[in-house]
Amino acid sequence: MNPLSARLQSLSPSETFAMAQKSNELKAQGIDVINMSVGEPDFATPNHIKEAAKKAIDNNFSFYSPVPGFPELRKAICSKLKNENNLDFDPAQIVVSGGAKQSLCNVILSIVNKGEEVIIPAPYWVSYPEMVKLAEGKSVFVYAGIEQDFKITAKQLKSAITSKTRALILCSPSNPTGSVYTREELKSLTDVLIKYPNIYVISDEIYEHINYIGKHESIAQFEAIRERVIIVNGVSKGYAMTGWRIGWIAAPKWIASACGLLQGQYTSGASSISQKAAEAAYIGDQACVEEMRIAFERRKNLITKLLKEIPGLKVNDPKGAFYIFIECSYYMGKRLEGKKIETAADLAMYLLEQGHVACVGGDAFGAPEHIRFSYATSDEDIKNAIARVKDALAKLN
Ligand code: PMP
Ligand code: GLU
Repeated sequence: MNPLSARLQSLSPSETFAMAQKSNELKAQGIDVINMSVGEPDFATPNHIKEAAKKAIDNNFSFYSPVPGFPELRKAICSKLKNENNLDFDPAQIVVSGGAKQSLCNVILSIVNKGEEVIIPAPYWVSYPEMVKLAEGKSVFVYAGIEQDFKITAKQLKSAITSKTRALILCSPSNPTGSVYTREELKSLTDVLIKYPNIYVISDEIYEHINYIGKHESIAQFEAIRERVIIVNGVSKGYAMTGWRIGWIAAPKWIASACGLLQGQYTSGASSISQKAAEAAYIGDQACVEEMRIAFERRKNLITKLLKEIPGLKVNDPKGAFYIFIECSYYMGKRLEGKKIETAADLAMYLLEQGHVACVGGDAFGAPEHIRFSYATSDEDIKNAIARVKDALAKLN
């Protein structure tokens, strides 16, 4: 008998981290792999943020922090929400945690009961359905393909709602597709949600600052559903701080209290040093965010152009984040030396082994026949990687 709890037995490993690890293993064997699997900025954390952390160490920020985070950081997050998003929040509505991933899990565990449904637009980020499993909820996937720019419509949302629906998880800018919902699109989803007062919206805005079409739009701006929106955000992506592990929610007070309760028994307050660094990120000069965004935009243009030159791939124009999600059904069923590509995971493995480029198969994102590249890497690596992908794909027949 498997001694693991049933809860753990049903959990899948994170495919993004799994592919990154495979790539690192090959690198350790001396193979020159270009890693475009895991998504994280390749930039160092900006200096003024690092300095704030050093100062925090010298000033003995070495004790437990309040469970929901230092008041100064929660105030800084409220100012950010006011200045950047024109949203009024009180620090009591903010809970800081060890990353947006933990914040999402806190929220899902706080509001989803056994058997309740969570609507997840697909393609989705790998961890959402696994978090829903942990809460013993049921994921209901709503698929939006490349022909609709990977964005669900109000009509699709409406037909997925049942009496058991508890929440919708929205991710814009999106991982894995790079799609961004416009204000009008968010409004049309809101118009559906208005009629269902028991449904909450978990709005994952972790890629807010990496947007190529202008101002970030949050679904929390619509007053009619404002009391049912939980914003999840953090410093990982916009400030190049993935390893610092700071995320947060801005939510109705009762949800914030619930997440504080959960966190108080489970992990306590997030790292005190990292919280001081995150505070500096929010109150400091924002020029670094724009510099990184510009670099991501240049790389997005480069990789999109190069991928569009490869026969058989369907490529759209990402509007945010640092991923590009390619439809590659043309290559399914093709072979090299008797080895057949049956799934996107097979294709990702083929590209790793033949081309020494690591990407992630779409199966893990609820979109078989797609692969995801993270282009948070140098222009040089992007050029080399896509040339290798082109050569490897040309060998298949
Ligand atoms: N949401 C999405 C869509 C992500 O891509 C990530 C990146 N891992 C997270 C949440 C979690 O971010 P963090 O590193 O702050 O936990
Ligand atoms: N968000 C990143 C990705 O999708 C990091 C990995 C993860 O947290 O799963 O690659």
